[in-house]
Amino acid sequence: MSNRDVIAHLLRRPLAWARRLEMFVPLGLRQAGKGKTSQKDGIKAEPSLKTNPGFCPICEKETEFVERHEWLRDHYLCARCKSIPRNRALIHVLGMIFPDWRDAKIHESSPSGPASAKLQRECKDYTPPHFWPNVKPGDSKYGIRCENLEQMTFADNTFDLMITQDVMEHILNPVKSFSDIARILKPGGAHVFTVPYYYWKPTLIRAVETPDGIKYLEEKQFHGNPVDKEGSLVVTEWGPDFVDRIYRESKMTTAIYHIKDRSLGIDGKFLEVFVSRKPL
Ligand SMILES: [Zn+2]
Repeated sequence: MSNRDVIAHLLRRPLAWARRLEMFVPLGLRQAGKGKTSQKDGIKAEPSLKTNPGFCPICEKETEFVERHEWLRDHYLCARCKSIPRNRALIHVLGMIFPDWRDAKIHESSPSGPASAKLQRECKDYTPPHFWPNVKPGDSKYGIRCENLEQMTFADNTFDLMITQDVMEHILNPVKSFSDIARILKPGGAHVFTVPYYYWKPTLIRAVETPDGIKYLEEKQFHGNPVDKEGSLVVTEWGPDFVDRIYRESKMTTAIYHIKDRSLGIDGKFLEVFVSRKPL
């Protein structure tokens, strides 16, 4: 895929990204937030909005962080790049643990938003596939490579780093995904990712794949998907057994970074960043 294709793809995303932001807000809070976000690009214009100064890990500049809604996870924005806290947490942890990431060979599955745009701009060797069920993995759609996270077409030991942002809760066969991610990473490589982490309750499986199709064990719930207007089905609410599960399926050991730091614009719920390393 050419760089022009990738850039065109990223530029097509703002609307989808905006939809994605809205969809993770719990139902009870959606109504409360209405009206506060009506000014599309006027984040600084509303005097009622709370702000604090800080340093944005994505812009890498001094900025103002603006609270547009009490659900900070999706509405505590950098006034410069409009990133949200989990974007900044991911890039902050990536820079802290892998300071040479710009020279690494990076695969990001289902990229979207300002963190992906930064990786695209600054990483010399960045591969950003999406998944469409009706496209053969390895082929392209709109110039973007199609890959199924459960069975990728990349060779073994291909990438230094794998990135996913709020993707692993949507995978129907996470067992296969974790082992396939380990397969395509080089020894010593790592999967750096965000996922909503319900550390206070057991893992909840909301849907399973059967020979007759998807069986829903809980009420259907969707998050925004930049390449599918139907959204992505939430399959798993990962609980405290998550890192043991990853180890069992992939032999990767996982560290969890939970950062709350307003000077970096990182505050809110579900901001854990996971780093799973493939053994050397
Ligand atoms: Zn920023």
